[in-house]
Amino acid sequence: MNKMNKKKTLFGLPERVIHCTKCLLTNQKPFSVNETKNSKGSSKNSLQFNEEGICLACQYSEKKKKIINWNEREKLLRELLNNYRRKDGSYDCIVSGSGGKDSVTIAHILKYKYGMNPLTVTYSPILYTEIGFKNHRAWIDKGGFDNLLFSPNGRVTSILSKEAFINLLHPMQPFKFGIKSLAAKTALKYGINLVMFGEPYAEYGSEDSNTLEKPSYDINWYLNDSDQIFFGGTHYKDFLKKYQWLKFSDIKSFMPLTSDDVKNEKLDVQYLGWYLHWDPQEIYYYATENCGYQPDTERSDGTYGRYSAVDDKMEWLHYYCHYIKFGIGRCRFDACQEIRNEHITREEAILLCKKFEGEYPKRYINDCFRFMNLSIKEAENIIDKFRSPHLWKKVKNKWVRLQELEEIYNGK
Ligand SMILES: [Zn+2]
Repeated sequence: MNKMNKKKTLFGLPERVIHCTKCLLTNQKPFSVNETKNSKGSSKNSLQFNEEGICLACQYSEKKKKIINWNEREKLLRELLNNYRRKDGSYDCIVSGSGGKDSVTIAHILKYKYGMNPLTVTYSPILYTEIGFKNHRAWIDKGGFDNLLFSPNGRVTSILSKEAFINLLHPMQPFKFGIKSLAAKTALKYGINLVMFGEPYAEYGSEDSNTLEKPSYDINWYLNDSDQIFFGGTHYKDFLKKYQWLKFSDIKSFMPLTSDDVKNEKLDVQYLGWYLHWDPQEIYYYATENCGYQPDTERSDGTYGRYSAVDDKMEWLHYYCHYIKFGIGRCRFDACQEIRNEHITREEAILLCKKFEGEYPKRYINDCFRFMNLSIKEAENIIDKFRSPHLWKKVKNKWVRLQELEEIYNGK
């Protein structure tokens, strides 16, 4: 990256926005990162396109429809599970989730279709919604599972969220630490060798295409061997200095695993979505039918959907922050997925984005700011600092989007 480029865009984003010709994602969509390595001001790799201008997520979706032999893959799944299934009544795999449609379905399929004995583990959402907690209970009560609910220290989570919001505009970061490592930590503690997640991240264009070639989860996502461990974009030692009342024991549960922790263990972390055809709408129906999963009572701010990521009040703010930083909001995520699964056309998706993309997340915003101990004014000033000049411009005291498809946003 050269110096000039750095001044024109934040996070090292490409200066010119390219829209996928099949869905509506853009080259501003960053890859997921190991959050403990996410320092303040670090650059991000972003979504790749082929020569025809088609994004990685759409390319993979075509492959799912035309090339992948799902019968073969299911056979591989059966072989994998045969290696781990236990007959003595002890747990043989871990499914981690808060009770959302994906985790609910993974656990149910593994237990009732493939005869596994999963232990479900939940890293508590930062601010559980009512519907989210209901679904969590329904998972256990109607689905029939044992569950461990881990709720991290709320006082520490509050300052972690605040720091991550101020430095990275990423208030959900402490949850992301937890969700990625709790399953592995619990597996080690209980002597369980298999952890199963849902869809590969690359399906949404959040990872490099290489990761789609294999079903296992890259250990680099939850291990960090260096001393360079960041919380809210700040080195953890500086973090401890800043908040003098904190002891190391307060942040220990947020620390990543190291290679040493796993070196004598057989830990296999896999994606069920690599073996079985995964369609979010079908998963939703499955979860409803088998585990009493319920959609939210109203659509989420910023989109038309009401059944994805509705268990944490922070999700509303999280997607809004994503829209500010990368110009890609909650509606676009929902609509692009539905284009790929052929539930809606690109034209319909454009109309939906025109209506909902970037809508202010009013429903829970006060709860989120209160949790982080920030006034609305303070928080909004922070948000404005993350508007990259190639995506936003202030005109007559109003923020105007740049480089958006005209059909979605034309300045009015
Ligand atoms: Zn695409």
